[in-house]
Amino acid sequence: MTKKEENSKDKLNTKDIIKTADEHLIHTYNRFQISLERGDGVYLYDSEGKDYLDFGAGIAVFALGYNNKAYNDALKAQIDKLIHTSNLFYNEPVAKAAKLVTKASGLDRVFFTNSGTEAIEGAIKLAKKYSFLKTGSTDNEIIAMHHSFHGRSMGALAVTGNKHYQEAFGPMIPGIKFAEYNNLESVKALVNDKTCAIIFETVQGEGGIYPAKEEFIKGVRKICDEKGILLILDEIQCGMGRTGTMFAYEQYGIKPDILTVAKALGCGVPVGAFLATQEVANALVPGDHGTTYGGNPLVCAAVVKVFELFEELNVLDNVKKVSKYLEIQLDKLVDEFDVAVARRGLGLMQGLELSVSPTSIINKAMDDGLILFAAGSNVIRFVPPLVISKADVDKMIEKLKRALV
Ligand SMILES: *Cc1c(COP(=O)(O)O)cnc(C)c1O
Repeated sequence: MTKKEENSKDKLNTKDIIKTADEHLIHTYNRFQISLERGDGVYLYDSEGKDYLDFGAGIAVFALGYNNKAYNDALKAQIDKLIHTSNLFYNEPVAKAAKLVTKASGLDRVFFTNSGTEAIEGAIKLAKKYSFLKTGSTDNEIIAMHHSFHGRSMGALAVTGNKHYQEAFGPMIPGIKFAEYNNLESVKALVNDKTCAIIFETVQGEGGIYPAKEEFIKGVRKICDEKGILLILDEIQCGMGRTGTMFAYEQYGIKPDILTVAKALGCGVPVGAFLATQEVANALVPGDHGTTYGGNPLVCAAVVKVFELFEELNVLDNVKKVSKYLEIQLDKLVDEFDVAVARRGLGLMQGLELSVSPTSIINKAMDDGLILFAAGSNVIRFVPPLVISKADVDKMIEKLKRALV
């Protein structure tokens, strides 16, 4: 028996995979009855060999498309050198990754985390410490937005404006108030002497794909400047080129004091980051924050390669070009189909609002070999790899039309 045959002997079929997983995993997800095995470009393949055009990208993660050879080779080379050290030493990938991500964001300092949620945790701690050093008080407040999503750990959950997610897990950390997204007056009404930070997504993702309005984001920036409040922008989903600029806030001509990034930062390896201006970052000193894995050589080698490939593949230009086309095609669906109510979004982060629940449409598309995710209760979300072509958009629209009828 060859080695290959021996391996395939242990290979589980789809039914066994699902059964084994369902018997042993904690049931926190209702999963599609599909087991994915490999990916190539903008396609995923299940264990039966069926192909899926992927407009979900592992929830806005795989910006470069699957099986990119240069990306894979960079990771393999790093695996053979050094996977992990600890943050008690320096290594070349983390130095390079830190330089690249600070330069791209226009911020001065970065702390690498293992996930988006942890980036939010770090951002909250940084804002609190900065405020403590300034006022000597720990009685601070943070303003977050209704319908936001920042993660599921206790700090991130506390600023996530969704009662349903919070309900069973109280008490939340105190001092969090919720304003209406894109409603400047509702933010102003909550600002007081205790406010240390205002946090929101530049484009709300899970809440239903709502880009910030220009007067809102600029208005909040102005309030923050006037009152010495920190602006924390969560670009975990909308950052890293998804909207056509490296970070979405660039399009509004403003900058946050603290930024959170993850998802496409490592394009598939678990890495996130929070960044800050020099002045704000100075608030954290040795002992204030830490992580064992965060920013280890393996994930940072991925981050470095992602930035290199963004340049080489002209990813931002492609997003600008293809997103215009995607917008036009989605607008046509709004004209053509009664269930399609509206389209909104920025770049390759688009939402199609429906008059019905998107579940059955998404399931129908899935059967037809198209991966789409929902956002909010009535929105189909389009967050494809950033390397898609107009032809991929055409194929997606063809399948989506079949699912909409
Ligand atoms: C996904 C997401 C998070 C959480 O990131 P994880 O990597 O899942 O921990 C936080 N904020 C936004 C805007 C997100 O889209």
